[in-house]
Amino acid sequence: MNIHEFQAKELFVEYNIPTTEGLVIRSLSEIPIALERFPEKAVIKAQIHAGGRGKGTIVGTNLPGVYLARSAEDTARYIQQTLGGILVTNQTGSQGKRIRALYLCDVVEVEHEYYLSVQIDRNTAKPMITVSRSGGVEIEVNAGNLNSISVDLESNIHTFQIRALARALELERRMVPSFIELVSNLCRLFHEKDATLIEINPLSLTSEGALIALDAKVILDDNALYRHPELEALRDMAEDDPLEECASRFGMNYVAAEGDIACVVNGAGLAMATMDMITFYGGKAANFLDLGSRADPIQVREALRIVQENPNTRGIFVNIFGGIAQCDVIAEGILEQCPQTMPVVVRLQGASAERGQQLLREGTPSVILENDLDQAVKTIVSKVKER
Ligand code: ADP
Ligand code: MG
Repeated sequence: MNIHEFQAKELFVEYNIPTTEGLVIRSLSEIPIALERFPEKAVIKAQIHAGGRGKGTIVGTNLPGVYLARSAEDTARYIQQTLGGILVTNQTGSQGKRIRALYLCDVVEVEHEYYLSVQIDRNTAKPMITVSRSGGVEIEVNAGNLNSISVDLESNIHTFQIRALARALELERRMVPSFIELVSNLCRLFHEKDATLIEINPLSLTSEGALIALDAKVILDDNALYRHPELEALRDMAEDDPLEECASRFGMNYVAAEGDIACVVNGAGLAMATMDMITFYGGKAANFLDLGSRADPIQVREALRIVQENPNTRGIFVNIFGGIAQCDVIAEGILEQCPQTMPVVVRLQGASAERGQQLLREGTPSVILENDLDQAVKTIVSKVKER
């Protein structure tokens, strides 16, 4: 689960990680409150679940998503022009993201910008700390300058490891104690809150010689959220794909993709293989929808409804390998929600496959039944192309 910068910074404050403190506003009626707190200069930052805001542009203006306002009038004007607008950055896609909240904070005089992150390294299956001396908005350009160490957070990070990072950053000796404390606190936050990524870019050296997190990105592990009800409350539904949300309510996993062939399958591995096959035969998957292993008719009905709600869907491929899930039970769900307006190809194999196929033949003759996977994929790809 993604959270907003201002929420991530609240976690930083809780863990004694130096950061900016500020104010969040969600409506124009809060402008007077903003001006009271920031009567002169302020940095104003669009709160969206995507980075690259500093270099992004708000549609219909030439304003960026991170803005240095030089006066109260400037602050008021920026808020009026941007709150509710759409911010396009190199991470949002061309459709951009709506700005529903703005975060205002003090202007920090920056001497140098570093990069610091902790994330799960899939190769070692351990958290990994990455630092770079060249942080800030150009990080992608400077990606070659990264130094990483793997850490075992169960047994606490060692001071000598943090010192090695400090050397890689070429920190002055007097900065090292505060850096050690900052990194230790960051690791504790990562571990205790079950994060999968915490990224501080930039970690800034101020003109007063202090280190401070100017930006904050935190991703929390969805599978561990049951342990942290207070973090679940940070979820911003408006930022999530509503279809994903809807699928998760029925215990299913939906991920949107760019194409037009909707996939309804049971099992994540089968979902991946199905999407690969569609690509192999020249089609493009519109989504990944995994029913899970114990699919029942209600889930199947909801799955078909969800994929039809994606406006890009022009055909549906249901690919089921029955095991714990019974194909005839799945067929009942298909019968309930099968569209007549687009081609539907169904491949039912495994437990109760014949009975399932018979139900479909009798109930919805428009469904195309295929037994062979290659043939099934070829059929849906060609049917969608014909439309
Ligand atoms: P993004 O990564 O989405 O572009 P950041 O929060 O990193 O957004 O902001 C972009 C840049 O704006 C930072 O690299 C930093 O140079 C500058 N910046 C951000 N917050 C402040 C602040 N409070 N004071 C001064 N400069 C800031
Ligand atoms: Mg940043």
